[in-house]
Amino acid sequence: MPENLTRREFIKDLGKLGAAASLAPMVALGEQSSDKSVGLKRPSFIKEVDKPTTEIDWDLMERMSERERTCRRSFVKYVGQDRLDKLTEIRNQNTDKWLKEDKPGYTLKDVAIKSGSGSGYMSQSYLGPQSAKTPEKLGVAKYSGSPEEALQILQSAMRHFGAATVGVVELDAHTEKLIYSQDPDGKYMQILDVDEPLETDDTRVIPKKARWVITYTVQMSQETLNLAPTILGSQTTTLTYRRARNIQNRTQEFLRGLGYMGLGEASTNATGIAPAFGVMAGLGELSRYNRLLTPEYGSMVRVFKIITDLPLAPTKPIDAGLLEFCKRCLKCADHCPSKALSFDTEPTWKTQGEWNNPGHKAFFEDSVKCRNYWYEVGTNCGICFAVCPFASQNLASWSKFRNYMTATVPGFDKTLVSIDDLLYTPYTEFGKPQKDPEEWWKLNLPDYGIDTYQSVRGNS
Ligand code: SF4
Ligand code: SF4
Repeated sequence: MPENLTRREFIKDLGKLGAAASLAPMVALGEQSSDKSVGLKRPSFIKEVDKPTTEIDWDLMERMSERERTCRRSFVKYVGQDRLDKLTEIRNQNTDKWLKEDKPGYTLKDVAIKSGSGSGYMSQSYLGPQSAKTPEKLGVAKYSGSPEEALQILQSAMRHFGAATVGVVELDAHTEKLIYSQDPDGKYMQILDVDEPLETDDTRVIPKKARWVITYTVQMSQETLNLAPTILGSQTTTLTYRRARNIQNRTQEFLRGLGYMGLGEASTNATGIAPAFGVMAGLGELSRYNRLLTPEYGSMVRVFKIITDLPLAPTKPIDAGLLEFCKRCLKCADHCPSKALSFDTEPTWKTQGEWNNPGHKAFFEDSVKCRNYWYEVGTNCGICFAVCPFASQNLASWSKFRNYMTATVPGFDKTLVSIDDLLYTPYTEFGKPQKDPEEWWKLNLPDYGIDTYQSVRGNS
């Protein structure tokens, strides 16, 4: 039970909520918006805005090197080789011991499913497979729909390939700063006035005419991420990233088939800052755990990008009340076992370390603490994603009511956290999975463990 509510107060709130909950879905459905960006038909309480809810000072922002600055690639720079060697030894000893002990979530079947999730994908590249027949080859003109029509068909194609939501950021002097100066593999990313993209041993060239960054989310399974931190929990992201590779390849071929370029992520987390593009494309808002929080799928997404010269109608940032909610909800920070997340009441300009990019106000995280913890548990973590009150989507009318109240009723946050604790977060012991990993093997879940009925095409 959260500290701010007694059990009596909480039950009273639930009672009030019961009455309101029966009406809210009707309100939400009745307010389906018709004049929003093409294809992103959301309820009207999710407002499109000119500036994102995250404050940005573009003058303070510079393109950052993924290779040199993130904890993903440069952890050793922040902790030193001795500490990294020690952590690696701890990780290997723990995972070996837990496998032999049959610890739930670390057993042979969990290791085996992780291997399965990590296979069966297409290779990933900047230029894509380049095998689709081009309009030129077919003897016809390239696709020439309006930017709005182009976005509509792109969204249809990408959802068909498995994307959850699809938005577009137009590159300009500001948004170009979200493209990495250096990709994860060390190649320099240059934006030049050339006709064709180019990749050499040390450089990737983005033609200046490729102005549109297709930004898309791919759903993760809440049922397995709830099992973080375990190997069974960690394969949630493994599978999602592999599915995204296939979506990227197919989209690159789709764009080529229309007569345009599709410049993909050359490796995991390449090209640019994913949460920032997600925010600018209106796919969600920046959250306390400093990643994208979406109205449709909550925290249960990863974000990806493809750059193209196909003119696309940009999608606008949104205000769904999510950042405001995060200011008062501390659930992810409370549950973070390494205490890597901010407990501040407001986002700040002050970064925590070189791994953060200055120039925007955020709840910056201590990535070094987070990454240390990953070594201790022998897998990635994701508890912060799993415990978020917006992670749960398995009660459709509850999700609609929750989103409506979040966007329109200040002060609903603590009540929602209490309900979510009761329904979805039984364990407050830090570092413990929210469900028994052994029970997951007995569940009857939809394909990929995700609910694709939740969508932005009118039924979300
Ligand atoms: S991944 Fe785990 S350790 Fe890292 S910030 Fe989230 S909860 Fe904390
Ligand atoms: S757990 Fe709460 S504070 Fe953290 S991201 Fe989710 S809504 Fe925001």
